[in-house]
Amino acid sequence: MTRIASLLLAFVLLAAAPLHARSETARTPVTILISIDGFRADYLDRGLTPNLSKLAAGGAHGALRPSFPTKTFPNHYAIVTGERPDTNGIVGNNMIDPRRPNVKFSLGDPKQSLDPFWWDQAEPAWVTADKAGVRTATMFWPGSEVSIHETRPPDWLRYDEHVGYAQRINTILDWMRRPADIRPAFVTLYFEAVDNAGHEFGPDSAEVNAAIADVDARIGDLVAGLAAMDQPARLLVVADHGMHATDESRVIQLADLIDLPSIIAVETGPYAAIEPAAGTDNRVYEALLKPHDHMSCNRREELPARLHYGRNPRVAAIICIAEPGWTILAGAPAYPVKGGAHGYDNQDPQMLALFVANGTGLKGDIGIVDNIEVYPLLMKLIGVAPLPSDATGELAKRLP
Ligand code: AMP
Ligand code: ZN
Ligand code: ZN
Repeated sequence: MTRIASLLLAFVLLAAAPLHARSETARTPVTILISIDGFRADYLDRGLTPNLSKLAAGGAHGALRPSFPTKTFPNHYAIVTGERPDTNGIVGNNMIDPRRPNVKFSLGDPKQSLDPFWWDQAEPAWVTADKAGVRTATMFWPGSEVSIHETRPPDWLRYDEHVGYAQRINTILDWMRRPADIRPAFVTLYFEAVDNAGHEFGPDSAEVNAAIADVDARIGDLVAGLAAMDQPARLLVVADHGMHATDESRVIQLADLIDLPSIIAVETGPYAAIEPAAGTDNRVYEALLKPHDHMSCNRREELPARLHYGRNPRVAAIICIAEPGWTILAGAPAYPVKGGAHGYDNQDPQMLALFVANGTGLKGDIGIVDNIEVYPLLMKLIGVAPLPSDATGELAKRLP
């Protein structure tokens, strides 16, 4: 057969193959982990989310119990490592390590937040996947900009809240249009609008509802875009924590209990992380460790065991947790107390976070599950052995 004849034959055979058979052989499923920051579990019942509700109805859904403290960085890292903050090393959005006593990690300070020193106590899913030869790509996720255990995702972007949501979705769809050998099999995606509106206007505001509807529409665009290119996908849609309404009438002033120069308030708000300015100052312990009306304070060694918090040297000497809705302050707040907040006890029902999963074998109501259980499920979906972690693997056993 001449070369032209054999090319012609190949073309005729290809054209004769059913469409779906061709695409099935061409594309392996992608797993996409989507975080909608601050999407409280019950937001799904507001009738504002046609796309997420459809994914939930045809897939699995439930609620994630966040890890304490119910803050963004500790919980995003818990979800991708299976380790609670005490183990994964990201014990707060703000923290101090005794090995670097004069600097503070905070999520708005890239000099610290992008330093591997803070992240290397655990290994996130994209690093383990990369080492196992699974191609990864991150459209934002706390930690994904950092070289952890000397590895970054082959495709990652520096976090920038100004990157619009359509652009985030299009970036992922562009990745999926690549040739198979450089197409990712595990992708992350992050949205901040629901959390931002929750802080500013409170969980029951029209602004939160608008943000919920907008993010839902963008997820609809992602699903449609994947379908248009016959790209099979498993979607895990999660949140890091919920949101509780706060207001200026429910404020606890640490200045009413202790003179502020004698403490270092590493974190304030729904919980406070406090170091005595002079490590041996017993007055600080006496003033704070007694009972209070709307908060409870403990030495880090004496926190309730169910919080799984206090063994990491990065946890401050005294941890005070406000009653849900209350705000602990050390002097004037950086922002007016209004709207909503999170960071409370992880047993507070209003801290519960979204869980929706859709894809082959992902079915049913999972009830309330600790958020560290997402990690073994994620690893199972991407076909990589999970590292030992705090998770039991019970969710991965049930799904898929
Ligand atoms: P929180 O203070 O716990 O409410 O944190 C939520 C904020 O974290 C969001 O408003 C985001 O702007 C911010 N954020 C999310 N991901 C990152 C990131 N990778 N780097 C820096 N900031 C981030
Ligand atoms: Zn958050
Ligand atoms: Zn927040």
